[in-house]
Amino acid sequence: MTILVTGGAGFIGANFVLDWLEHHDEPVVNLDKLTYAGNLDNLASLQGDARHVFVRGDIGDRALVERLLQQHRPRAVLNFAAESHVDRSIHGPEDFIQTNVVGTFRLLEAVRGYWSGLPQEERAAFRFLHVSTDEVYGTLGPADPPFAETRRYEPNSPYSASKAASDHLVRAWHHTYGLPALTTNCSNNYGPFHFPEKLIPLMIVHALAGRPLPVYGDGRQVRDWLYVRDHCAAIRRVLQAGQPGQTYNIGGRNEKTNLEVVQTICALLDELAPAPRRGVADARTGRPIERYAELITHVPDRPGHDRRYAIDARKIERELGWRPAETFDSGIRKTVQWYLDHPEWVARAQSGAYREWVARQYGMV
Ligand code: NAD
Repeated sequence: MTILVTGGAGFIGANFVLDWLEHHDEPVVNLDKLTYAGNLDNLASLQGDARHVFVRGDIGDRALVERLLQQHRPRAVLNFAAESHVDRSIHGPEDFIQTNVVGTFRLLEAVRGYWSGLPQEERAAFRFLHVSTDEVYGTLGPADPPFAETRRYEPNSPYSASKAASDHLVRAWHHTYGLPALTTNCSNNYGPFHFPEKLIPLMIVHALAGRPLPVYGDGRQVRDWLYVRDHCAAIRRVLQAGQPGQTYNIGGRNEKTNLEVVQTICALLDELAPAPRRGVADARTGRPIERYAELITHVPDRPGHDRRYAIDARKIERELGWRPAETFDSGIRKTVQWYLDHPEWVARAQSGAYREWVARQYGMV
C-alpha cells in the first residue's frame, strides 16, 4: 500500500512525510512543484530511504497526476500543496487561484478517474484528504465563540478565498460523485522547517541577526497556534477514522496575540541565546542590545487583516479522540531551540528571493 502526498516539500507537508514514516512503513509518493516555499532540505534525513519517492511536478498537471496514480496505485491522496502566504496573495493573487482553485480541481478530476476505476473494495477504502485552513471562516470579534465546522464561510483575503473555493470543490466532488473525501481546517501551525517569511521563524531569524522585529499594527490580532507535529497526528487520525464527506476543525486551544507571540520568542531567546553573549547588535544603529524585545518595531497593518481566529476542535476530540500533545509553551520552546540548532537550514532557506521579499514587504531587510 502507498499514499500520495502533494506539497510534501513545504512546511506542513514535509513534517507530515517525516511523521508518517516514523509511524508507518507504508511508502509515500511526494508530488511537489518546488515553488519558493518547497525545500528538499526539509527531507534530507530521508535520503536513501526507499519508502519516500519524490516527484517534482504540479498538482494542476492532470496527465502527470494520472500517470503517478496508475504507477503507484495509492490507497489515499493527501493534498497539502497550495500557495499559502496571505501577504503574497495580496500582492499577487493569480498563483493562488491557479494552484489552490484550478490545481485542486484538476487533482480532484485525476483522482476521481483513478478512484472510479478501482475494484469495489478498494474504492470503498480509498480516501482523498484535503488540508485547509481556519481562515476560510473569516474573522471573529473578541467575545465570539470559536469556529465550529458549522460556521459559515466568510473568507477575507485572496488566500482564504482560494482555499474556501478548494474546500467547496472537495465537498462537491464528494456529494456529486461520491469521492470519499475529507477536509481538515486547521489553525496557525508552527515548528521546525517553517519558511522564515512566516511570523514565528521570521522573528527568531531577525532577532538573532539584530534586525527589526516587524509587528503589524498594534499587534493585538489573535491567532490560535498548533504545533505542526500535533497537526500531523490529527491528519493521520482523520485518514484512519474520519468519515468521508465530513470536515474536521483542528486547533491547539492556544489563543495568543501576535505581540504576545513575539514577546514569548524574545524571552526564550534571552534565556537560550542571550544577546550579549552572542554579541548581537541592533542592525539599524550598530549598538549592542541587552534584550531581543528592544528590536520590536510596529509597522503599518496589512490591508483587511482579520482580527481574531479561534478553533473549536471538539468534534475531532470527541469523535476521533485526537488531542494536541504540546502546549504553546512546550511547542514554542522546541521550535526556538530547533532554529538555534539549524543555522545552516535557515541560511539556505533565506535565498535572494526571500530577502527581496522581506525588503519589499516591511521596507527593511
Ligand atoms: P507551504 O507554502 O510551506 O508549502 C506548500 C508546498 O506546496 C510547497 O512545498 C510548494 O512547493 C508546494 N506547491 C505549491 N504549489 C504547488 C503546485 N501547484 N503543485 C505541487 N506543489 C505545489 O505551506 P504549508 O504551510 O506547509 O501549508 C500546507 C497546507 O496546509 C496548505 O494547503 C495550507 O493552506 C494549509 N494550512 C497551513 C497552515 C499554516 O499555518 N501553515 C494552517 C492551516 C492550513
